Amino acid sequence: MPELIPDRPSLKAVRDVAKGCRACHLYKPATQTVFGEGPARAQVMLVGEQPGDAEDLAGHPFVGPSGKLLDRALADAGIDRGLVYLTNVVKHFKFEPRGKRRIHQKPNSAEIGACRPWLETEIALVKPRVLVCLGATAAQALLGRGFKVTTGRGSFVPSALAPRVMATVHPSSILRAPDEDSRRAEMRRFVRDLKRIAAELGS
Ligand code: SF4
Repeated sequence: MPELIPDRPSLKAVRDVAKGCRACHLYKPATQTVFGEGPARAQVMLVGEQPGDAEDLAGHPFVGPSGKLLDRALADAGIDRGLVYLTNVVKHFKFEPRGKRRIHQKPNSAEIGACRPWLETEIALVKPRVLVCLGATAAQALLGRGFKVTTGRGSFVPSALAPRVMATVHPSSILRAPDEDSRRAEMRRFVRDLKRIAAELGS
């Protein structure tokens, strides 16, 4: 698949060629490639795991329930979503059909590895000042398999990926909280992590 990436790519050119990626089997049942979106020189890049059901159908990242929660959290943290580049480590939706529903399946390391050149190209082109991994899949793909979001969240870690790199939870984990009280508490913690990014941008 790296052969698909143009020599001197623009984000638009890379997004276009990624539509035809066949570097792993995930393209077969999915509707379309869901590439990252946002300003070409965004100061912040948020990296999630993979598109979900709504994103697969729409062709845009973070437009489903997790994306709506992320919108609220970014607004609460004082970050304009329009200034953020949003993407995923894997660009096709991995799922298991169950009746009429499509149940999210975690991508494995081979799928993450096959998709990595797209993410690396996005990072190289956007050159974000702050890169944030959302959830364990993104954090372990970019910060190492030993990285634990539970203990490492909310702190900037040394990385060659960007001047400031942090991991926090994926917004979908907040939606899965067992009750309303824990959902509110998790949302507060998530916003607190995002506020560190806002502070970084203001500095
Ligand atoms: S998941 Fe990534 S590597 Fe696999 S086919 Fe889709 S774009 Fe290509």
